[in-house]
Amino acid sequence: MNTTEARKLLGVGPHASPQSIKRAFRQHAMNWHPDRNPDPGAGEHFARLAAACNYLLEQAGHHKHAASEKSEKTDEESGHSKARGKDREQDIELELELLCRGGNSEVVIETRGKCPSCAGRGYNETTHGQLCARCHGSGRIHRGKALERCPDCDGNGYTHRLRCAACDGKGEQVVRRVLTVNIPPGLLPGDELRLKGEGHPAATPKGHPGDLRLRIRLKPHPLFVLDGSDVVLDRPVSAFVLLAGGTVTIPSPSGLRHLELAPGTASTREISIAGAGVPARGSRVAGTLKVRLSPCLPTVASPALLKLYRALQTEIDNKGQACIPELSDWEARWL
Ligand SMILES: [Zn+2]
Ligand SMILES: [Zn+2]
Repeated sequence: MNTTEARKLLGVGPHASPQSIKRAFRQHAMNWHPDRNPDPGAGEHFARLAAACNYLLEQAGHHKHAASEKSEKTDEESGHSKARGKDREQDIELELELLCRGGNSEVVIETRGKCPSCAGRGYNETTHGQLCARCHGSGRIHRGKALERCPDCDGNGYTHRLRCAACDGKGEQVVRRVLTVNIPPGLLPGDELRLKGEGHPAATPKGHPGDLRLRIRLKPHPLFVLDGSDVVLDRPVSAFVLLAGGTVTIPSPSGLRHLELAPGTASTREISIAGAGVPARGSRVAGTLKVRLSPCLPTVASPALLKLYRALQTEIDNKGQACIPELSDWEARWL
């Protein structure tokens, strides 16, 4: 089974989310389940649909999460879904290096909760009346050209309610939590990491909190381009190294690498290093590092370089320019 086949079978596009892949499978499954469909080929087709669904989900890196999603369903089926808090969905933007090597990343979670200073009311009661801060004691406020009764003091001009300074009267406070997330190597943009119990709290005290579902995004990189699991890189290189061969050092998401170049032509050369892209994960194979070496010629000539160029040209002239076929063909025809 390959990706195109699997997508075709389920009728999903290349950017289908795991949810829509599962939805597509369920729709097909209703028609093709051997218990429902008397067609003798139904069982086989059903098995292929299931395989396609699993394949695409695994490719999206969701094979591990399938298990936890299943347990979620059992909760729903057994009527406990209300006890569990909602999942929290959030994006996490990661460097390409982190996707390749793995490591820790921080994610900030913002939770809105009742302000602890005013228990969510937005004000605190005082024993003595205060001059109303909103209408400054007049009991009236301007709304456009009209004067209206001040809602904060109910027109009294003074109040026993003191606006809560901690939440500025809103009654809620945003609590920021910083979580350190372990990023396994091999994740790709669009993959999802599930952190159990880091979602919204349950409505009931005994209920379990939901999960935090982190959708992986890629931080744009000034050098590397990600193409599926492949990492693409342009590297300028001296034309003489392309001609004579030699060692070229290149950066890669997993560190510096040294390429041994064979002698060749001074034209753009593409070198692929299998397995040096984003590492394998689940059933997904490791990507390739694709390096495009583009030739550069010196723009500044020193006397020493000029001497070498002339010696080089003399050598080429002595060889009857056979080493530059394009040139010798032209000269043979027109001179
Ligand atoms: Zn007032
Ligand atoms: Zn408050």
